Parts: sequence; C-alpha cells; structure tokens
Amino acid sequence: MSLEQAFRKLEPRGLDSRDLERWQDGQKQKKGGTSGRHRLKYLYRTISSKEAELMDKASTIFAHVKKEGRKSLLETEAKTVCADYGIPVTKFKLAKSETEASRFAKELGFPVVLKIVSPDIIHKSDVGGVAIGLKDAEAVKNAFEQIMKNVKKHDAKARIVGVLVQEMAPPSTEVIVGAIKDPQFGPALMFGLGGIFVEVLKDVTFRIAPITVDEARDMISEVKAYPLLKGYRNTPPADVGAIVKILLSTSKLIMEHQEIKELDLNPIMVYEKGAKTVDARIILE
Ligand code: ADP
Ligand code: MG
Repeated sequence: MSLEQAFRKLEPRGLDSRDLERWQDGQKQKKGGTSGRHRLKYLYRTISSKEAELMDKASTIFAHVKKEGRKSLLETEAKTVCADYGIPVTKFKLAKSETEASRFAKELGFPVVLKIVSPDIIHKSDVGGVAIGLKDAEAVKNAFEQIMKNVKKHDAKARIVGVLVQEMAPPSTEVIVGAIKDPQFGPALMFGLGGIFVEVLKDVTFRIAPITVDEARDMISEVKAYPLLKGYRNTPPADVGAIVKILLSTSKLIMEHQEIKELDLNPIMVYEKGAKTVDARIILE
C-alpha cells in the first residue's frame, strides 16, 4: 500500500489534508528520506496520536456541556466537534459585541451570516436569530442589533452567549446527515436531501452504524431525490464523494461517543467540489 493510499484509507477517521501536508513538509526537511515501511509506521503513529487528540476534544466539550446541566450543544460546540472529526463546517467566530462582530466579519470576508448563540434557543431562525448574506460592516451592525431585539422579544430571560459570525456558504443543493440512537440497534445514520425532501416527502435512508464506504454510497443513491445530485438543467453534479466522507466521519463520531443521542447536520451545502455544513446540532443523552 502506498503512503497516499494509506492516507486515503484513514482519512475518514478524522485526518485531513493538512495532516498529510504537515507530514510531507516534515519529511522534506529530513535529509536523505526514509524507507517506505518506516514512513507508513510514522503515518500510523501520527494517526493514533491524532485520534487520541480527537477523543479528547469532543469528550472535553461533552463534559463541559454536562457540567453546565445542558443536553444540547451550542452551534459553536457542535461545529468544533464536527470539524475535529473531519466534517467540513463554515468558518466561524463568536462575537461578544457589535464591534467584535464587525471586526470578525472583515476578517472572515463578506458576505457573512450572523446567528444567535444561546442555550435557550434551539431553532434560531424561528425567533429571528439568523441573518444571512450580510455584505458590509453596516449590514452586520444592523443585523446584530436586530437579532438581539428579536431574541429579547421572544424570551427576555434567554441567556445570550454571543453572536456567531460565519462565512456565508453560497446556495447549492442541500443535504441532511443525521444520527439517532435506535433503542434496539444503537447509533444509526440518516441521509436525505434538504428542505421538502426530508420535511414533507420523508425521502430518507437509514443504516445502523458503523457504516462502510459502500453502505454510505448506497444510502446516498437510495433516496428518490438522488437524480438531483447527479445534476439537472443548470445545476452541475454534486460531489457525492464529499457526502460519503461526511457520512463516514459522522459514523465514527457517533460510534466513539455513544453519549450522543441525536445529531443533525442540517443543511449541508454540496458543491461540484466539496461540501460545507452550515448548521450542526448535537444532543446528548
Ligand atoms: P436554525 O436551523 O437553528 O433555524 P440555521 O443555522 O440552520 O438555523 O440557519 C437557518 C438557515 O439559514 C439555514 O437552513 C440556511 O438556509 C441558512 N444559513 C445559515 N447559516 C448559513 C451559512 N453560513 N451560509 C449560508 N446559509 C446559511
Ligand atoms: Mg438548521
């Protein structure tokens, strides 16, 4: 097995391309190089330490959530867990003030999205807690004020952690990856296309975790809306490989953290190349 193949095989286990690059850089700096066997050994060692790191980060977040007497992770927490498992998420920064929100927006680059972060608000857009497509600092300032106003009007006592400033994922085909705990079979994965396909038509597939690459592919091609992913009219084909990776990473996450009762990546924007999770929700037992 070549190094590249080994890496690809282990990628769903939480490594990302940066790990490979970092490793390759390290190799370049070493004089004379090393044998293939030695290199593989090094890669596996990197993987196990990365895995230990992963377990640690998610566990730390879960422990913190439990300590605060919560069951539901904030979007910041859920996305941090997801990102550590190699699930692509929108870049984000938590702003505590309007000034901070404007500064973060400039750093991330316009357009941006603003979202309320509160342990008392699960469905953010229902309470006017989401503003998308903000094109400049002025729009960010207005949206910040409006979100605060909306949230206070909805629940004057809602605890507010801050406002999340995140990159705006360009509109595209939306898919949903979910996880639930089946009382009989344990962690299970769900896949479907976003919007009416899941909500109205219940066009979804399920598999008991852990899943294999083939099972992930089957899940995707089984939904009735699958032809939409293959491209239609002016819409180019979606990167099915990127969805497969997300399903495998989610499978790994829920297997390693059985305290997860529910997980919801809704929606994930899928592009011709790559995908991006726009909203993530994790609920603990
Ligand atoms: P909630 O589900 O809690 O109401 P979401 O974070 O899902 O809040 O935001 C609501 C909707 O806003 C999403 O379904 C999506 O259409 C859009 N949206 C949210 N964040 C982004 C983003 N970063 N880029 C593009 N669209 C977004
Ligand atoms: Mg959502």
